[in-house]
Amino acid sequence: MNICPKCKSLEVKCLTNLDYKVVAFGISAVFKCLNCNFQGEIFPEVKSLNIKVRPNSKKNDLILKDGNYIVNIKAPPEDNKANLELIKFLSKKFNTKVRIKSGLTSKNKIIYFDQA
Ligand SMILES: [Zn+2]
Repeated sequence: MNICPKCKSLEVKCLTNLDYKVVAFGISAVFKCLNCNFQGEIFPEVKSLNIKVRPNSKKNDLILKDGNYIVNIKAPPEDNKANLELIKFLSKKFNTKVRIKSGLTSKNKIIYFDQA
């Protein structure tokens, strides 16, 4: 998972065609942040993330506020429902496997990106 060095957003798009990268020597990937439009070659990778979950929300949503990640989840915090929906929502959003590393019973969690 790549992170924007300016605003910390994870909504980052790779502008370089990866097949082309393999073929053309010395061409590195160019990334663009969909949040602040910053563009560059160096976007650090993150494997885990501290998040705060807000269950019982109106919709599922990831918010970046003052450098903190807040995830709104529609499901209630009971019977593991919010955790399951959180994993499903983030996995789909970032197209990668997501695991909860710690904080299963807490609103403050650490999630782990399991990239293929
Ligand atoms: Zn950004």
